[in-house]
Amino acid sequence: MFDNLSDKLDKAFHILKGHGKITEVNVAETLKEVRRALLDADVNFKIAKDFTTKVKEKAIGQDVLTTLQPGQLLVKLVKDELTELMGGDVAGINLSGNPTVILMSGLQGSGKTTFSGKLANYLLTKKNKKPLLVACDIYRPAAIQQLYVVGDSIGVEVYSEPENKNPVEIAQNAIKHAKANGFNVVIVDTAGRLAVDEEMMNEIERVHKAIQPQETLFVVDAMTGQDAVNTAKTFNDRLNFDGVILTKLDGDTRGGAAISIKTVVNKPIKFVGTGEKMDAIDVFYPIRMAERILG
Ligand code: GDP
Repeated sequence: MFDNLSDKLDKAFHILKGHGKITEVNVAETLKEVRRALLDADVNFKIAKDFTTKVKEKAIGQDVLTTLQPGQLLVKLVKDELTELMGGDVAGINLSGNPTVILMSGLQGSGKTTFSGKLANYLLTKKNKKPLLVACDIYRPAAIQQLYVVGDSIGVEVYSEPENKNPVEIAQNAIKHAKANGFNVVIVDTAGRLAVDEEMMNEIERVHKAIQPQETLFVVDAMTGQDAVNTAKTFNDRLNFDGVILTKLDGDTRGGAAISIKTVVNKPIKFVGTGEKMDAIDVFYPIRMAERILG
């Protein structure tokens, strides 16, 4: 992951490491290289520009050139700033509800159903919770079936009403079922479309309003680059979601989505998906991601 960006930055910092004495020109050249690397990783132009401008200002403010190891200080500045850009601290998940209701949103194919299973498995095995998975896709019977396969594989019950065409009712009934049967987390998997459309947005907005989830999570395929940012913005405008799940980070993907989405919608990235298996889930650590990007 992020080889591209990491390689580029390695090269950029190499310029600095090679010099005993660093000049303002070196710093400017390196930051130009950092900016190019961010652009190559699909980070939006303005975000990349603002980022390097900020690092440059800090470098000047801290008098980088007069310190003993200016290269290292600049690397640290870039790393700190990149960490900050991706959210700074780890964003937890709010499990305060009784039951806690978690609504999954996102386009079809983003990895919602897979992630719903991963999250249920994570809460079951790591947080000692009793989760219930809810199939709220009323359009594709295969989607309901897929959730059953996922639920079976991790030993988590799935709630569905195949004959009911009202997702609001299904979700509400599922919460009642959870309360009556001792489930303390309800994960509602919703219908996605291949692209944003009004009907889908209206439907998920209705479900959101009716069940008032503690956590509304937006799932997005990290491989979709700038499109990921636009989709995130649309969903956030309608749902004011609580966090982002970045899936498919195991693929040949660039790191730009993590940076851009956080900057544009200003919501934390909470988890990442790193494979198709149920245990391929990681809490998102901004600092680790920054270190990984920088190599
Ligand atoms: P949904 O339509 O949003 O529910 O998406 P699915 O959960 O069905 O996922 C779409 C495809 O992406 C499936 O083939 C999944 O196995 C795959 N997938 C989901 N998450 C990941 C991930 O983190 N890494 C990889 N490599 N594949 C994933």
